[in-house]
Amino acid sequence: MTRSRPPRSGKAPGVNRRRFLTSGAMGSMGLALNPRAAFADDDDANIVNDVTLLNPVHVEAIATPHTTEEILHAVQARHGAISIGGARYSMGGQIAEDYSLHVDMRSFNKPVFLDAEKRIIRVQTGMRWRDVQELIDPHNLSVKIMPPYADFTVGGGLSVNAHGNYVGLGPLVNSVRAIQMVLASGAVVEASREQNAELFHGAIGGYGGLGIITEAELDLVPNTKIVRSIDRVPLAEYPAFFQSKVQGAPNIVLHNADIDFGDFDSVLATSWRRTDKDLSVTERLRPGGDATAFGNVKNWALELPGADLLRSAVIDPINSLEDVVVWRNYEAGLKMSSLGDTATSSHTFALQEYFIPPEKFGVFVSDLHRILGESDSNPVNVSIRHSPKAADTLLSWTRSDVFSFEIAYDQDSTLRAQTTVGAWTRQLIDSALGCGGSYFLPYQLHATPIQFARAYPNHAAFFALKNRLDPNYQFRNRMWDKYFPG
Ligand SMILES: Cc1cc2nc3c(=O)[nH]c(=O)nc-3n(C[C@H](O)[C@H](O)[C@H](O)COP(=O)(O)OP(=O)(O)OC[C@H]3O[C@@H](n4cnc5c(N)ncnc54)[C@H](O)[C@@H]3O)c2cc1C
Repeated sequence: MTRSRPPRSGKAPGVNRRRFLTSGAMGSMGLALNPRAAFADDDDANIVNDVTLLNPVHVEAIATPHTTEEILHAVQARHGAISIGGARYSMGGQIAEDYSLHVDMRSFNKPVFLDAEKRIIRVQTGMRWRDVQELIDPHNLSVKIMPPYADFTVGGGLSVNAHGNYVGLGPLVNSVRAIQMVLASGAVVEASREQNAELFHGAIGGYGGLGIITEAELDLVPNTKIVRSIDRVPLAEYPAFFQSKVQGAPNIVLHNADIDFGDFDSVLATSWRRTDKDLSVTERLRPGGDATAFGNVKNWALELPGADLLRSAVIDPINSLEDVVVWRNYEAGLKMSSLGDTATSSHTFALQEYFIPPEKFGVFVSDLHRILGESDSNPVNVSIRHSPKAADTLLSWTRSDVFSFEIAYDQDSTLRAQTTVGAWTRQLIDSALGCGGSYFLPYQLHATPIQFARAYPNHAAFFALKNRLDPNYQFRNRMWDKYFPG
């Protein structure tokens, strides 16, 4: 069942009135993208595109390695540009470079070892998080930190230093013990906090700029049953609510809050706590296929006339049921495909995310409301999460404790629409920078090089390392072409 362009809706005071589906995790933004869309480039086998379909790039050749040796040989034999792709969910050409050798990591997806007793797994990085879950769930273990969508690859998650809804755990680097990399020199090296530490801290969050991460060793934790609770909280009081009710609460595993677009004045805060209660969903993992039946039907139904009524009468209540008890692995294993929808050649959903120190929460919220309201934007959800400081990666986005604001929006694919989005995006970036914060890099490349440099003040150390490890600038993509001075 294919979806056409999703319905657009009128604007509420300030922002789009469409209240988005709340599914509980990932900021519950309900953003719905079909991964098949990322591969709707069959007419030209050498075009690599991402999930937005906004960034078609013609590469010279595509390698689909299955072993580290194949990756090594591909790199050794290559004298020109090399780009790296995982599941292709980044949104600004971070996976590709014109006339590069594109290394498609998705077939490089086997486990290396699992030590259930020590709670460690090592995998090839083309593996998707959902497949990691499949390996560890029989041991009643969970990935300590994974992105909110399980169809991303491990390598893609590491390379953007992703984060999920985990309370107090911060970005993915905090759960990585070691990585193996293939460098431009043709060396295969191990990196960890103890060994080649600069490489470890550069490659995680390094967007494929330092080489190919071939293996990752990850911390695991016990899988537990978790129960959902939902609080409506005034937006202005949310930081205090988070601090007093969530941050220190020993049992809360996952948490996020969605701004209510009806008034832009309150949030629905969703928490998942460890529990001994009986399961209300007995499946241990989400289905492995592309889409759940409910997801398909639900999203198809939302295309029909009367969809708003269906949403408020049926779907929102289902999504916001209290006392839902599930396994942590079940809740952590959301699949983007299960949410339906897609990008088409004329339209796409997209994301952006801003990281704001808690003391500037109110300033940013007020800028956000104003900028979205004044611009020709079509936001569908804003989800708030928290991350503790994790400043050790060279391109850290959380140099202090931060609240993150993830904005999901709907845009046309025309150049004009991209220009419009670029204008309000740069305003939001300026606001975040003015708050002493940052913005997230896996999305569209609207930031100016100056904004990039301010948001990532250790970029010079990253670039110096890149120049040392990759002197001929072989590992490249659209993002590095824009921000790496060479
Ligand atoms: C709907 C949606 C929701 C999202 N929500 C979140 C969120 O809540 N939190 C969050 O942190 N992120 C989020 N993201 C962003 C997501 O984490 C990144 O897009 C992530 O990169 C996706 O993984 P991927 O496998 O698709 O990576 P890709 O997009 O394929 O690659 C991303 C980058 O990693 C590089 N790369 C990939 N594999 C390797 C490798 N093995 N070695 C070296 N470099 C490599 C690529 O060159 C590229 O620069 C979201 C994205 C979408 C589309």
